[in-house]
Amino acid sequence: MTNLDLVIRGGTLATATRTGREDLGIKDGVIAAIGPSLEGRKVIDATGLLVLPGAVDPHVHLDMPAGATRSSDDWCSGTRAAACGGTTTVIDFVEPEPGEILLDAFRKRRQEAAGAIVDYALHMTLTNARDETLAQIPDVVAAGMTSFKTYTTYEGFRLDDAAFLRVMRAVRDASGLVMAHCENDAIVTDATARLAALGRMGPGAHPYSRPGIAEATAIRKILSFAQFIQVPVYIVHVSTALGSQAIAWAQVQEEHTSGGRRTVPVGGETCPQYLTLTASEYDQPGFAGAKYVCAPPLRTPHDQQMLWNALATGTLQTVGTDHCPFNFSGQKDLGRDDFRKIPGGLPGIEARLALLHTFGVLRQRITLKQWVALCCENPARWFGLYPRKGTLEIGSDADVVLFDPSRQVTLSTESLHESVDYTPYEGFALTGYPVMTLIRGKIVMQEGNVVSDPGLGHYLFCDTPGLI
Ligand SMILES: [Zn+2]
Repeated sequence: MTNLDLVIRGGTLATATRTGREDLGIKDGVIAAIGPSLEGRKVIDATGLLVLPGAVDPHVHLDMPAGATRSSDDWCSGTRAAACGGTTTVIDFVEPEPGEILLDAFRKRRQEAAGAIVDYALHMTLTNARDETLAQIPDVVAAGMTSFKTYTTYEGFRLDDAAFLRVMRAVRDASGLVMAHCENDAIVTDATARLAALGRMGPGAHPYSRPGIAEATAIRKILSFAQFIQVPVYIVHVSTALGSQAIAWAQVQEEHTSGGRRTVPVGGETCPQYLTLTASEYDQPGFAGAKYVCAPPLRTPHDQQMLWNALATGTLQTVGTDHCPFNFSGQKDLGRDDFRKIPGGLPGIEARLALLHTFGVLRQRITLKQWVALCCENPARWFGLYPRKGTLEIGSDADVVLFDPSRQVTLSTESLHESVDYTPYEGFALTGYPVMTLIRGKIVMQEGNVVSDPGLGHYLFCDTPGLI
């Protein structure tokens, strides 16, 4: 093997299944050799560094419409930040307008994504169960989108019970996967109205407007429906102990009813904000709590600990960011007098891998291999991108992160590349940070500097989804 384009030499290769000192050889943008003492036309010295698969973020919202505003990162700025944090694939969403042909909305989204510098795939959002909508699902799958986002809350988005069954059956028949945002709408509506009646209109009211029981109730319903229909379901942004217990219960049920083997994948993700922040942030002085307004909201230290347990035991299999940034000044303050009008969402696309290293691996809540599984391999597996993405095997895309496990970094708005005027992780002291990111063998980030032009990112066709 002397005809390699590039060799990453002397590092510790770390995937979800193995770690060890090996060189990595790249040719034509894919991994062509793994082993000792490789030779190539160009060599990168990775001594002392971890060599990881590029991270896959299964849940981002770049340039997303939200009422009268849009999330503050566009595809170019958001994917630059992703690359700086070691993320080489993001999966965003197509959100069709009412009545719009699903593939028309997809084509518009592709145009918006033209500036992406990392590879990307798309989930399709379904907000109704009309015959003419469901009839388009096979076309959507043929265009490379095999995962379908559904909501149990939000006017204009949520499906009722009968609609959920129809959507699940249509997605199953197209060999797709259902993703669900789970918060019981009646509980959220009731709790929100009661707070408003009491005159509690500041950000401190936000967590009480979306109680944890609303999440758990909705998860139980969705997973019961999924078991009835027999369709794979991925629960997004699980935030509570009760919610993760509901998933664990469904996993056991699924094993019992299918002879010990889980035939229909059931699982989901949590997010860095639920693992590292708690609802006490909403009590910051003045309006500062608005920086942390997202749905579901931040929870208790107990929830946080149980989410770490759920990751360690496999109840939850991925960590996605739900990156959906809004500037504190000019966007979050649309809700200055009314927490219900604060645009919901947090930035986080950049620091996920490093946050999970410091708060997960170094705190011994998860192992090094689990870290790679949660951030890289499992998201790729769930959404039909594995083994092209999420691992370092011969034939995989050469998406590689060089990660310095001893680098000390203090997170700040100034040092992060996200296009937003604050970070919820301001002042967080991290040990370990990406120092280089390659996409398909090309260096896109070196020492925190983006060295790639916009538009490098490819649209990815997703294969049959589901973690089995
Ligand atoms: Zn989201």
